[in-house]
Amino acid sequence: MSGNESRLQAIYQITNREPSASDKTDALSKIWACDVFNLATMEESLSKNAFKAIKKTVQTGEPLDSATADIVAAAMKEWAVAKGVKFYSHVFYPLTNVTAEKHDGFIVTNSDGNAITEFTGSLLIKGEPDGSSFPNGSIRMTNAARGYTAWDPTSPVYIQHTDNGSTLMIPCVFMSWTGEALDKKIPLLRSNDAMNKAGNRVLSLMGEKEIAPLNSSCGAEQEYFLVDSNFANSRPDLLLAGRTLFGAEPAKGQQFDDHYFGAIPARVQVYMQDVEDQLYRLGIPAKTHHNEVAPGQFEIAPYFEAANVAADHQQLMMTTLKATAKRHGFICLLHEKPFAGINGSGKHVNWSVGNATQGNLLDPGQTPHDNLNFLLFCGAVIRGVHKFGPLLRSVIASAGNDHRLGANEAPPAILSVYLGDQLEKVFQDIKDGKLLSSEVGGEMDLGLSQILNFERDPGDRNRTSPFAFTGNRFEFRAVGSAQSVSGPLVAMNTMLADSLNWIADKLETALKDGDQTKAVASVLQELMNDHGNAVFGGDGYSSEWHEMAVAERGLKNIPTTADALPALQEASVKELFESTGVLTPVELESRYEVYAEQYILSLEVEAKLVVDMAKTMIYPAAVRYLSDLSMASAGMSEMGVDVDTTAAQAVATATNAMMAAVAKLSEAMEKEDFASTDDHMQYFANDILSLMNEVRAHADTLETEVADELWPLPKYQEMLFIK
Ligand code: ADP
Ligand code: MG
Repeated sequence: MSGNESRLQAIYQITNREPSASDKTDALSKIWACDVFNLATMEESLSKNAFKAIKKTVQTGEPLDSATADIVAAAMKEWAVAKGVKFYSHVFYPLTNVTAEKHDGFIVTNSDGNAITEFTGSLLIKGEPDGSSFPNGSIRMTNAARGYTAWDPTSPVYIQHTDNGSTLMIPCVFMSWTGEALDKKIPLLRSNDAMNKAGNRVLSLMGEKEIAPLNSSCGAEQEYFLVDSNFANSRPDLLLAGRTLFGAEPAKGQQFDDHYFGAIPARVQVYMQDVEDQLYRLGIPAKTHHNEVAPGQFEIAPYFEAANVAADHQQLMMTTLKATAKRHGFICLLHEKPFAGINGSGKHVNWSVGNATQGNLLDPGQTPHDNLNFLLFCGAVIRGVHKFGPLLRSVIASAGNDHRLGANEAPPAILSVYLGDQLEKVFQDIKDGKLLSSEVGGEMDLGLSQILNFERDPGDRNRTSPFAFTGNRFEFRAVGSAQSVSGPLVAMNTMLADSLNWIADKLETALKDGDQTKAVASVLQELMNDHGNAVFGGDGYSSEWHEMAVAERGLKNIPTTADALPALQEASVKELFESTGVLTPVELESRYEVYAEQYILSLEVEAKLVVDMAKTMIYPAAVRYLSDLSMASAGMSEMGVDVDTTAAQAVATATNAMMAAVAKLSEAMEKEDFASTDDHMQYFANDILSLMNEVRAHADTLETEVADELWPLPKYQEMLFIK
C-alpha cells in the first residue's frame, strides 16, 4: 500500500506509534462510581432526615422541599470541591442526538475581594440557558427566548473529568418558558408515567393487591468504528459528515467473516479498557465488548438499568467513546453507515417493564397467574408494534440509518415482531381459540404448562427481525448507532401504555363473567385477530417477506426518513401522545419539524462536501494523472513506440462524467421553493441523494484508475485494516 505524501505520512505515523502505557488499570472496587454523587455518597454526607427525603425523591421523583434542596446542594458542592471541581453544569438532552451543557463556577467574591464557593438548592434545581439556540421547531419563543433546565433527581449527578478540568454535571430536563418540552428527557419520564398508570390498571384488574411503581428498563448495545485519526484527518467527509462519501470497494472487505469475535487488536484493547475505566468511575456498568462483523468495527454493551438513567448513561457513553478515541489517536465513528459495502452500525435497544412486587412483566414467571400477566403485557407489545409500526419507524429515522435499514445486513424498514417458535405458537393457539376450548377436568387449560416450561433463551435469535422477543425482554434492533435511545424508549413505553389501557378496558367487561383465565384468553384472542399480522418468525431479509408484509399483511415498508417522519403528523399518533399525556400536539409537531430539518441539513452538508471534494481533491488528482499519461505518450510517440491510450481514455471519460454530475448536483442544490417540508425532504431523499451517488460512482471508478501515489484520499483498505 503506497500512496500520496499525506497518506504515506499517515501510515508512517501509525506503524511507528509508541504503544500506549495505560495498560494497567485500577481495581473495580476502587473506581466503581467514585465520581458519582449517588445514594451511598449522600448517606455518608447528609443528616438522617435529609437523606430520607432525598432518597424518596430519587426513587419516586417526588419534589424536594427547598430547605432539603439547600442541604443536598451544599453537600454536593463539598463533595465535588474536595475532588478539585470548580464548575458545575446543568446537562440536558435537546432534540439533537447530543447533550448540551452550560457551565457555571461555584465561585463568588465577597466585599473583601476574597473568593468563596457557593451552591444553593435553587441553583441546583433550576438553570436558564438560552432556549432559542436549541432546535425547538414550532415552539417559537418570540418575546422570551428563555428556556429552563430543571434538575432530574432520578438520574445521578456526576463529575466529568476532561483535559481542561473537572465539572460537576447535573442531569436536567429542558423546557420552554411556556412549559413545553424541548428535550428528550421530559417525554421519556412522562411515557414511563403513562406506562406505569396503565400497567397498574391491568395488574389491579388481575387481582394484584400490592403493586409497586412500574418502570421501564433499557440495555443498549452500541456498535462503532475506529479509524486512525491520521487517515481521518485527510478525509473531510469523515470529519464533517461522519461517513465516507467516496471510496472504492477494497479487494478484501468483510467476506471472510474473520473479524467477528476474533482477537481484539492490542491498540483497540487498550482503548476499550480506558473507555471502560472511565465508565466505571461514572457508575456505568459496561459489561461486554467484542469485535463486530466489519473490519474496524466493535461493540460495547452495558448491563441494563432504569430507562431514564440508561438513556443518560448511553449519551455519556457515546461522548466517552468519542473523546477517548482522540486520546488514543483514533476517530470513533458512531455513524450508521461509514463505509459503503461494509456492514453498518446499529444500537440494539433491549427493553422491558417491571416493578418491585411483580418483577419483570415480560418474563414468563413461575406460576400460571404470572403467566397470564406475562401474556397480557406481551400481547400489549404486539398490539403496539402493529398499531404504531410507522411511529416506531419514524423514531429511528435519520439520514444515516436510512443507509442501513433494509440493506440485507440490518432489519428491514418494515416493523414486525419476532416471538420465537414457542411463544408464537402460544399466541397462535390463543388466536385460533384452541386454548379456550380445550377444557380438561372441568378446568380451563390455557396450555399454560407450555409457557411454564418456557425456554428463556431461545436458541434461534433471528437476527433479521427489527423487534424481537429475547426471553425476558424485547430487543428493538433497528435503532441507529448514533441515535439517542430516548426516542425509541418513548415510543415503546407510550404504545405499551395505550395497549395496556385498551386491555384494561376490555378486561373490565370480560371479567364480569367471573373467570379470569377465560377473560384474559378472550381479550387476547380479540387482540391477536386485530394485530396478529405483526407477528413474523421468518427471514426478514427475504424479498418474499417484503412482498408478503405489504400485500398480505398490510404492513408498511418505509424506506427513507422522508417517508417515515410524516407518521408524527398522523391523527392516530397525535391522539396516542395526547391521550397518554406524553406530548401535546404542539410538542409533537415541533419534533416533526426539528427532525425534518435535521434530515435536510445533514444531506445538505453531505451534498456540499461531495461537490467540494470532487472539485478540489479528486478532479485535480485525475487531471494530474492525465497530464502524466499524455506526457508519457507524447514522449513514447516521439520515440516511435506504439501507445496504448486505454487508461487515458478511461480516466478522461470518468473525469468528464464526474464533473458533469457535479454540475447537475450543484444546480439541483440551488432549488429553494418547496411546497412543504415533506416535499423538501422527498427532494433530498430522491433527487439530491441520487445525484450524490452518481458523482460518487464516477469518482470511485477514478480511484481504481488513477496512480495510487496521486490519490489524495485514504483508501478503504487503509482505513479499515491499518491499526
Ligand atoms: P446479544 O448481543 O446477545 O443481544 P448482549 O448480552 O450483548 O446480548 O446484550 C444484551 C443487553 O440486554 C444487555 O445490555 C443486557 O443487560 C440487556 N438486558 C438483559 N435483560 C434485560 C431486561 N430485562 N431489560 C432490559 N435489558 C435487558
Ligand atoms: Mg443484541
